[in-house]
Amino acid sequence: MAEIIDGKQISAQIKEELKQEVAELSAQGRECCLAVIQVGNDPASTVYVGNKKKACAYIGITSQAYELPEETTEEELLSLIEKLNQDKTVHGILCQLPLPVHINEDRVIAAISPKKDVDGFHPQNVGALVIGQKGFVSCTPAGIIQLLKRSRIEISGKHCVIIGRSNIVGKPMALLMLRENATVTVCHSRTEGLADICKSADILIVAIGKPRYIGAEYIKEGAVVIDVGIHRDENNKLCGDVKYEEAASAASFITPVPGGVGPMTIAMLMHNCVEAMKLYS
Ligand code: NAP
Repeated sequence: MAEIIDGKQISAQIKEELKQEVAELSAQGRECCLAVIQVGNDPASTVYVGNKKKACAYIGITSQAYELPEETTEEELLSLIEKLNQDKTVHGILCQLPLPVHINEDRVIAAISPKKDVDGFHPQNVGALVIGQKGFVSCTPAGIIQLLKRSRIEISGKHCVIIGRSNIVGKPMALLMLRENATVTVCHSRTEGLADICKSADILIVAIGKPRYIGAEYIKEGAVVIDVGIHRDENNKLCGDVKYEEAASAASFITPVPGGVGPMTIAMLMHNCVEAMKLYS
């Protein structure tokens, strides 16, 4: 039976480290501030934004909330972002996605100063990751690297298969695993022979976005399985992209849902915010 990678515990440890660092910086008169923008009132976004504000409060980061109505124009949003870009007391800017359809997400992402882009979505930060330079990295993949390292799982030289090639999970994940010297294969909806490829993975990272899709036939005995997916099943219970029980009987390590990758995303957002202040203020 696989050992559980406890994302709740690891994220709590990271938040504790950050809390201490923020207290030390505060004693030197340096206060860290994150601006959180939400447009409209999508219930899932409201929950995510609430959790981010709560994490800020816990760590000692000031959060400024901008709750804008659904009918906010792109121009209005861009002008708020420009104002926050210029504001020296704001170190991180987060614009909760998805945005209403009349607003172009790419334009909004590109408008955030790369120095305040704590989500790591700005093309300049993505480019930095590609060519191995320093920059902010998308929080979910960055959190997965922390899960692996803090669980003392060897990455270098291992075959890592990633299912999914989205801009926020699959692609940055592949680049980070490459940076850690894994041999990386990226799979997607057009991949042929998915199960065989997955079965050759030492580390299998699943971000397919389909509930309980990946079962034992995709997993090599002793592999490490990271489940990025998050869904509500027919009984309103949270589940991942992986069939947990089956996978756990083949894997050596596995992340549960909930309590695996999920809590790491916010911890890494907080980490990026503190870095933004240390580097650029
Ligand atoms: P996404 O944008 O929907 O991407 C899904 C990827 O899976 C795509 O690249 C798609 O291929 C691929 N795919 C779909 N069906 C496939 C199939 N049958 N075989 C092989 N590949 C297939 O999703 P995402 O934003 O990356 O998120 C993935 C999951 O992680 C979702 O469940 C999401 O809710 C969750 N998530 C969790 C967190 C967290 O903090 N825990 C953060 C972000 C996302 P194509 O590119 O060819 O379409």
